[in-house]
Amino acid sequence: MSRPPVVDLIDVTRSFTGPPEVQALKSINLRVEKQDYLSIVGPSGSGKSTMLNILGLLDRPSVGEYYLDGALTSLAGEAERAALRGGKIGFVFQAFHLMPHRSVLDNVLLATVYSGVPRADRERRARAALHRVHLDHRIDFLPGTLSGGERQRVAVARAVVASPQLLLADEPTGNLDATTSGEVMDLFEELNADGLTLIVITHDKAVADRAGRTISIADGRVSETT
Ligand code: ADP
Ligand code: MG
Repeated sequence: MSRPPVVDLIDVTRSFTGPPEVQALKSINLRVEKQDYLSIVGPSGSGKSTMLNILGLLDRPSVGEYYLDGALTSLAGEAERAALRGGKIGFVFQAFHLMPHRSVLDNVLLATVYSGVPRADRERRARAALHRVHLDHRIDFLPGTLSGGERQRVAVARAVVASPQLLLADEPTGNLDATTSGEVMDLFEELNADGLTLIVITHDKAVADRAGRTISIADGRVSETT
């Protein structure tokens, strides 16, 4: 049997009741296969964050279906969606959201607790995740002593520590200069080569172009660009 796509959105609409009522997403169809690397670009207000929130099970469609890894999620209740999210989806945001008074290792360890990694595996998994982002030499440091690129790499380690099916990133290089955003993009490419499925929302064309495939979103509708 062939594998289901990681993401399958079928005629997804998301309306916000007004007034005025806003259709932030309009009949979106999107399939993302395992190990795809997709970028989503579009102007402010076009529906990108609404899309990411739905993909990340933080929100759900008003109309339409969302299958994550073959499982219908759009009917799931809040608790079920939280459980699915913890195990299957990692998030990276523009702001790094690290705990300033805890070491790099502790920041990643805490994520293992929330994502249900068995206690006996947590430290090994946290160290392995930090190794994947090339920060072995920074594990005992406090976030404030790291560069912006290093901090974002800690956030990436935290996002992948529970081996998610899908990594979602919303403007991951928005707080970084060109050199350090290059570091983060290199890392995404490595993780993708290792099998991770990635969806990256970005304003930055240089970042979008690193993905295997790009879609544009305008006024809640999607068009494929590459
Ligand atoms: P983007 O991330 O591309 O800037 P958003 O997805 O945040 O766009 O927003 C798309 C549209 O949906 C905008 O018109 C925005 O005002 C509207 N919108 C987003 N979230 C809400 C909400 N919670 N309530 C009402 N309108 C919303
Ligand atoms: Mg947004």
